[in-house]
Amino acid sequence: METDVAKNLKEVLGNLPEGVQLVAISKFHPNEYIEAAYAAGQRIFGESREQELRLKAEQLPKDIQWHFIGHLQGNKVKSIAPYISMIESVDTFKLMKEINKQAEKNNRVIDILLELHVADEETKFGFSFEACRSMLAEALWKQMANIRIRGLMMMASNVEDENQIASEMNKAADFFDEVKRDYFADADYFSERSWGMSHDYQIAVKCRSTMVRVGTTIFGARVS
Ligand SMILES: *Cc1c(COP(=O)(O)O)cnc(C)c1O
Repeated sequence: METDVAKNLKEVLGNLPEGVQLVAISKFHPNEYIEAAYAAGQRIFGESREQELRLKAEQLPKDIQWHFIGHLQGNKVKSIAPYISMIESVDTFKLMKEINKQAEKNNRVIDILLELHVADEETKFGFSFEACRSMLAEALWKQMANIRIRGLMMMASNVEDENQIASEMNKAADFFDEVKRDYFADADYFSERSWGMSHDYQIAVKCRSTMVRVGTTIFGARVS
């Protein structure tokens, strides 16, 4: 292993203010990289593909908290439902329903984040602010006893311009306040703002992120 995972991890953690959690994004990286971060104390890891995650979850320590961060197809929910700690990338009402159904079958409550589409890139998934507002206003989600909406997630545009990145993150933070006020004022668990990746997590912590998702800076470039 060429990358000094423990050193990189320590550096990233050193840049995070208190109250900001690190999700170490281990997608495409082999188990030994995850084990190195685990040995250095990291417990929350993020993966974006169901099959890869399944193999890793089987082979690696059971106290790892796995976050799903990729685009999730409905038919894959069943396989991650028994053990997933949080699904960050919930981008449709239909997916929420499926997660609720599979969580119920497993007799558990699954924590989710609603993914917002804020960036100008068409390729990204997520609710627009408007779509998220109307989904929440419909109130059908309130009957889903086996999911718990913990907050919001987004990816800023992949651009150099730090002002644009900050502006998108601040819009998401303002939207968080709106949703909190309108639907979760009494719910302490609605508290997470997941934004910030390798290239922009230091901007994210200035834009009220509570959860950064950092891969490359810790594990090196992904192969594939
Ligand atoms: C891959 C990925 C990350 C991590 O990206 P890095 O640039 O490697 O830090 C964060 N969030 C999501 C949704 C991702 O897919």
